[in-house]
Amino acid sequence: MLNPENLIRPEVLAMTRYAVTDADGLIKLDAMENPFPLPEPLAHELGQRLSQLALNRYPAPHPSALIEKLKRMMDVPSGCDVLLGNGSDEIISMLAVACARPGAKVLTPVPSFVMYEQTARLAQLEFIGVPLKDDFTLDTQAMSLALERHQPALVYLAYPNNPTGNLFDTDALEQIIGAAHASLVVIDEAYQPFAEHSWMKRLTEFKNVLVMRTFSKLGLAGIRLGYLVGAPAWLAQIDKVRPPYNTNVLTQAAAEFLLDHLTLFDKQAALLRAERARLATLLAQLPELTVYPSAGNFLLVRTPDAQRVFDHLLAQRILVKNLSKMHPLLLHCLRLTVGTPFENEQLLAALKTALVEA
Ligand code: PMP
Repeated sequence: MLNPENLIRPEVLAMTRYAVTDADGLIKLDAMENPFPLPEPLAHELGQRLSQLALNRYPAPHPSALIEKLKRMMDVPSGCDVLLGNGSDEIISMLAVACARPGAKVLTPVPSFVMYEQTARLAQLEFIGVPLKDDFTLDTQAMSLALERHQPALVYLAYPNNPTGNLFDTDALEQIIGAAHASLVVIDEAYQPFAEHSWMKRLTEFKNVLVMRTFSKLGLAGIRLGYLVGAPAWLAQIDKVRPPYNTNVLTQAAAEFLLDHLTLFDKQAALLRAERARLATLLAQLPELTVYPSAGNFLLVRTPDAQRVFDHLLAQRILVKNLSKMHPLLLHCLRLTVGTPFENEQLLAALKTALVEA
């Protein structure tokens, strides 16, 4: 009898699904989303715009109005191109597929964003993870040695890093980019609205560096739009593996709408940065909790017992991310997305009881 085990690739059979917990009715602090829904008048305006669209037609493959607006508003250096993806997740997949020569490798510090490894394995690239130091800073020596030894096709540097939250040191990154002269280096700036630091303006200093960003963290995770910025010579190659019509008409229009109202999203990001600082200070006062510095819209904390604290929070209807099993450096760590002031208060109160009852 024919069954999936006969046909599906062994790598896929061995994989576990990218699990997303059903958050119905929960305070959702697990996925670094913007907690603020669109204000009613804006939701109405967006609805009006979307109702004008020709949904019977395929989307524009290179929506020039959106791309020009993006270039202007996101400080894309002149001479650089923009490639759009169905979330930056899809761009990460495209990069892996485009670079998957036999024997090619992907290298990144670990722990970092899981999709770098997942997409590498699916495209049959070897994955090399170089552990961060105990304080989550880059081990430049180990990175340089690994770069020399493995000569990876692709290097990912998340800036700030997920899930640790820290921004890697500029000197360390420069050193690594220098050592990666035979690799394509992708600086993943998914959390840029909360970091206020970026490599975008420096893109043209390097021949082998691309910057990747997303609309997800700024406020529209639901529309699924990521973008990759860099030299046309690189993007033209990656564009060849882009599925046709990968970003849809509704997404493209909603993204333009976001850019037209960027000041609102910037204000929300500023509020979340302030909440991050407030939350970090209050969390640091809780017994037996270590809070790590973060430049993202989330905080990494180490608890005495991550599973127990996670379960306690869930019983209070608060969903966070337990990273304890992800990597030895994250033993007993939880990742807490910064929510609205109200949600953060709920989180603090629940954590307080979880830790005091321990
Ligand atoms: N890069 C990093 C570092 C992330 O943390 C995430 C999502 N959590 C992504 C990329 C993917 O973002 P999206 O597909 O929503 O654009």
